[in-house]
Amino acid sequence: MTDTYDLIIIGTGPAGMTAGIYAARSKLKTLVIGGVLGGTANSISYLENWPGFRGKGVDLMKRFYEQLNLYDIEVVLGEVQNVEKKGKGFSVKTLDKEFESKAVILATGIKRENLKIPGEEKFVGKGISYCATCDGFFYKDRGVAFVAREDCNPEEILALAKITRKVYVITTGKRMKCENEIKKFPEKGKIEIIPNSVVEEILGKEKVEGIKVKTGKGTKELIVDGIFVGMGSLAFTKFAKSLKLKLDKENNIIVDEQMKSSVPGVFAAGDVTNSKVRQVLTASSQGAVAAKSVNDWLKE
Ligand SMILES: Cc1cc2nc3c(=O)[nH]c(=O)nc-3n(C[C@H](O)[C@H](O)[C@H](O)COP(=O)(O)OP(=O)(O)OC[C@H]3O[C@@H](n4cnc5c(N)ncnc54)[C@H](O)[C@@H]3O)c2cc1C
Repeated sequence: MTDTYDLIIIGTGPAGMTAGIYAARSKLKTLVIGGVLGGTANSISYLENWPGFRGKGVDLMKRFYEQLNLYDIEVVLGEVQNVEKKGKGFSVKTLDKEFESKAVILATGIKRENLKIPGEEKFVGKGISYCATCDGFFYKDRGVAFVAREDCNPEEILALAKITRKVYVITTGKRMKCENEIKKFPEKGKIEIIPNSVVEEILGKEKVEGIKVKTGKGTKELIVDGIFVGMGSLAFTKFAKSLKLKLDKENNIIVDEQMKSSVPGVFAAGDVTNSKVRQVLTASSQGAVAAKSVNDWLKE
């Protein structure tokens, strides 16, 4: 027989676990299914923007899980293969089981694109970052590179320029689409755009010390302490394809202020949404809002 719930939350990162805590406190019969307990937040080498905590992301996530376990809530580790409408509710399938619920919260996060060059993995957390808002602060008064496609995010470049001494913007494009916006920044003097370029090699032994860049005019080495990868991201929403949710161009689920998606009964929280800020704090708060909204929606 299929197990039936009021709510199934997919994702065990900050958004999913917080949604679980709030749902349990509202006495909803809830199941949380996730691939990795802690999600992307486990990879934060040093987190200092969660008020009241400073340390490794994985340690904060252990505390989240302990807190979730204080409640009468089921947690299943596994990958959801498919979510679809079934009668008035939803069917959620993992590889070996089917579950049913009246509502679902999708909190599955995003995959940030990497540079795809040898040695990249070795330097993650040792100079390579995929989140300028998160890690820019650690590069105060130092030189960094920001690697992006031509359709760049000027806010990330500005965030880096405000903190660091110098930002080299490496782009494969002939011209960056946000170039005119960059020119308006008071910090524009710190930013040097290097067009038609690709990063060929990361230099350094234990940590990033520089990069080798192939440009239209030959190869050059730049001395930098940090490399920020801004190549875009893709939200994990493929398993929910049959729901025909409204998505943006990076597959992020478009939600309203109550974290409702375009499909009644489907809510979303955290990085997987079209939210502009992607942080542990915002993912958690969206998880709380989503659970509260599910509770209200079930009463309607
Ligand atoms: C290098 C780096 C540094 C960062 N530093 C900071 C920082 O200093 N401060 C900060 O606030 N934020 C930081 N962030 C951002 C922060 O990690 C994210 O914003 C946050 O983890 C988002 O939480 P989430 O729950 O939305 O998604 P995630 O943490 O990505 O969790 C997604 C969850 O969904 C699960 N999942 C995905 N697909 C499926 C599926 N099909 N079936 C079941 N489960 C699935 C995953 O296993 C995971 O449990 C950083 C991110 C990176 C990459």
